[in-house]
Amino acid sequence: MRRGIFCYSALAIAITLAGCNSDNSTDDEKTVEIDYGVKAMEYLTEIADETTGIGAREASSQQEIQTGNWIYDKLTGFGYDVLVQPFTYVKKVEGVDTTFISNNYIVEKKGAQDKTILLSAHYDSTGSDHGSLGATDNGAGLAAAIAIAEKLQTTDLPYNVRILLPGAEENGLNGSLHYVKNALANGELDNVISMINYDTVGGGDIVYVHAAHSDYNEYKSKCESLGLDESNYNKETTIRDAMLQASIDVIGEDNKYIIHPALAGYPEGETGSWSDHAGFACAGIPIAYVEATNFNINGEYGYDGYSQTTNPQMWDCYDAETKTACDRDTETKWGKIWHTEYDKLDKLEEAFPGRVSEQVKNNVNIVIELLTNEKYFIQAQG
Ligand SMILES: [Zn+2]
Repeated sequence: MRRGIFCYSALAIAITLAGCNSDNSTDDEKTVEIDYGVKAMEYLTEIADETTGIGAREASSQQEIQTGNWIYDKLTGFGYDVLVQPFTYVKKVEGVDTTFISNNYIVEKKGAQDKTILLSAHYDSTGSDHGSLGATDNGAGLAAAIAIAEKLQTTDLPYNVRILLPGAEENGLNGSLHYVKNALANGELDNVISMINYDTVGGGDIVYVHAAHSDYNEYKSKCESLGLDESNYNKETTIRDAMLQASIDVIGEDNKYIIHPALAGYPEGETGSWSDHAGFACAGIPIAYVEATNFNINGEYGYDGYSQTTNPQMWDCYDAETKTACDRDTETKWGKIWHTEYDKLDKLEEAFPGRVSEQVKNNVNIVIELLTNEKYFIQAQG
């Protein structure tokens, strides 16, 4: 549905190939381009492929731990010092409060100025009982964040970039809320000027970028769980708008991120508190949340962005004219990919040939452009 041309020029790195000349003259220098969008798709396969990948990664499962180890190995392999932040959370199991453990993974690349942009992508998945392998939610975001980390390790940056990979998002934003609470107590958010949340960045029909909600009440319960109130809350659109501009610069006006239209309860371009950006908005940081879905569908509960596609495979019957199910009383699928049997690489490729790789590549290239160019943040800071 969305097609674009990628800007590869910014992704070139020089690799010196010595002694290749047949005439034995001076060493030949050759520029080899590494495409970090392609790298991201390799990482997505390692994460979510049914046979060769890790597969489903339910919060606090053995597979979540395995994914954490995979993240650690990748990031240390790129040359980062990886901070592993363990945390616990309590969930009811058969009516009994039960304590679970998980880990957050954090790396930082220093920039020229002591201001920090934070990029986050949760690494757990859910819906494995329905057959989900978490390819879009959130293998795509994790893979993109890992490829971006790889690129940034060898790149001069205007600002610090901190990459946070939280665990246990799907059962209560546990990793990111723990991170924010701990970071606030230690002053580790003092220099953070923007936060980008990657959650389901590929798969759905349209790639959106959102800001926090202009009504604090939408975030109140999350903020109060951190001991924060409205005086701390940040609803600025600066980083969302900077992301939008970077998308125009990289893939063009026709393919840029989309700002969703005004919907019941959600003003134009604003989102709720259901993903890892929430704690950061509570802590006073402007956020941008990227997700691929479709707000043009009148889904199970209205125009709420929970139907990700009009593709007939993901509906019992979709009526394009009325933008909803042919029969709202009998529809069971509702165009949903997240947490369903359709959130698998093979099913997504069958339904949308080439789409996920294009969306993931675009996201990687847009965020690399953003993080490597001071101008977006000078604009953002007015
Ligand atoms: Zn998610």
